[in-house]
Amino acid sequence: MVLSFCRTAASFNKLFKRDKLQLAGSASLHILANYNLPLNRALYFWSIRVLNKIEQWIDKTNLDYESQRASCTCFADDFDGFYPASFLENAYFVVVDNIPKPDFPGLREIGLGDFIDMKVDGITYKNTYYILPHVAKNPRLHFHELVHVAQWEILGAVNFIQRYIEEIQNYGYADAPLEKMAYGLDAHFTNNGEKINVPAHVSEKI
Ligand SMILES: [Zn+2]
Repeated sequence: MVLSFCRTAASFNKLFKRDKLQLAGSASLHILANYNLPLNRALYFWSIRVLNKIEQWIDKTNLDYESQRASCTCFADDFDGFYPASFLENAYFVVVDNIPKPDFPGLREIGLGDFIDMKVDGITYKNTYYILPHVAKNPRLHFHELVHVAQWEILGAVNFIQRYIEEIQNYGYADAPLEKMAYGLDAHFTNNGEKINVPAHVSEKI
């Protein structure tokens, strides 16, 4: 998927403020304070380049695993009333021995080192999630990752990546709102909560 990174002045300013926030507390903030627009613009384009690179890596990863992925339509009965059939038809999972994660220069610098190194049972990239063999038959895990598929779809890839990174930086993994939403909904499902259309719910609450 080719994405345009053209932005309006308003969103430029929004991102620029985020750049400043991300640098808060670091030595770079002092450097930033002594420069005006040229450095800020450089930071803006640098962060766009990182986001662009993450998305390219995701697209390549999903393509590499395309022949191994399974359709989530197999959960039509298990998740009836929670995920519409049309949603499951466009979602996939791959059972892997090692969860694929991006790891290239630039990611650790923006504070994602812990996230890259953290051991996880599953991870979602766009409409495909990757899970370890020991959770491959765990409905709760599938339910959780499908919440992320809905989040990716509703926010759009670049917005999701940007927001997820910010949340990890600001709250840590366990308290990141996108994660808390997914954990809350998988708990609701596991505790036999009443049926809710999850994609619609995510769209409303996100
Ligand atoms: Zn999650």
